Amino acid sequence: MTVRVGVIGAGMIGQDHIRRLTDVVTGARVTAVTDLDAARAAEVAASVGATAYPTSADLIASPDVDAVLVTSWGPTHAEHVLGAIAAGKPVFCEKPLATTAEDCLRVVEAERAYGRRLVQVGFMRRFDAGYRQMKQVLASGSIGTPLIVHCAHRNPTVGDTYHSAMAAQDTAVHEIDVLRWLLDDEIVSAQVITPRATSKRFAHLKDPQIMYFETANGVRIDLEVFVNCQYGYDIQCETVGEDGLVRLPDPAAAHVRTAGQHSSAVLQDWKARFADAFDTEFREWIASVTAGAEPTGPSAWDGYAATVISDAAVRSLESDGTVVTADMKPRPTFYGGTA
Ligand code: NAD
Repeated sequence: MTVRVGVIGAGMIGQDHIRRLTDVVTGARVTAVTDLDAARAAEVAASVGATAYPTSADLIASPDVDAVLVTSWGPTHAEHVLGAIAAGKPVFCEKPLATTAEDCLRVVEAERAYGRRLVQVGFMRRFDAGYRQMKQVLASGSIGTPLIVHCAHRNPTVGDTYHSAMAAQDTAVHEIDVLRWLLDDEIVSAQVITPRATSKRFAHLKDPQIMYFETANGVRIDLEVFVNCQYGYDIQCETVGEDGLVRLPDPAAAHVRTAGQHSSAVLQDWKARFADAFDTEFREWIASVTAGAEPTGPSAWDGYAATVISDAAVRSLESDGTVVTADMKPRPTFYGGTA
């Protein structure tokens, strides 16, 4: 069976995922594309032999669409995901699931009412080989009970549209999701403090930021978000347990010795760092749709949790570093909880 995918939003990541579904993943074909920019939709659709649709509602309703991929702007995600659930079609939604906790809960309630999981949220780090190795080490018990996690998320530079709240909402949100999964634990509070600011930033931006999270089991997480670090795109994660520690491997890069120097390259962007993770993410999503099974990746509940926790971090930043409790509803049994 070939899964026929309809794509809502043919911008930067939408086009990258269309290429992935066309050239990398077997068993999938993009048959439908829509975008607010009709000319862009027509051009991208034509490039892969798909049909351009005037609206997302038309695309979701099409008999040529088995599953929906949402890669439009964040504030529009909930509307498209709710449309796919109403049509009973599996839907992959790039992060965020929605930009407000209320909209995330609307999706959660619609999916629960439908009665089985249809939604997967695009947190791709869970599909990265290094994070998966870390998860195996933690699950094996070899480093004992995890106590502390040290993380860094660094980008070389950001443009002037990047503002201080985006450090939590767009950047740290990836650590928030992957650490909940890695530790199999919930984040219950957030605190954000700002050290001396780099001079190499736009004046409106607080950069770097240091974020502290605490989990329900008492694990403490510290995360440096530094989006103008100049030298490269660098993701670090080290979990310290009672009997040892496990560290995320750096991406493979040749070691060069010349002219009295020993060096290896640092990647410059997230696309290269997580290319394999994105490929695996889509292979596994298409495999679940093909099998008629529920998706195994991040759920609508995970999307809700990530939004609530990043909102708590933004509130802390805006209140000069107060510790802010993540105001999360109890997790329903439908999503593996007890409520
Ligand atoms: P973009 O601006 O390049 O593309 C978005 C496209 O969606 C545009 O072509 C726009 O016209 C279209 N669009 C917006 N609203 C629409 C609507 N209601 N109906 C149809 N089309 C609509 O943005 P992008 O960088 O591709 O990001 C898209 C989403 O992907 C964002 O939510 C972003 O956070 C997410 N993203 C995730 C990752 C990741 O690491 N997982 C990386 C990049 C982007």
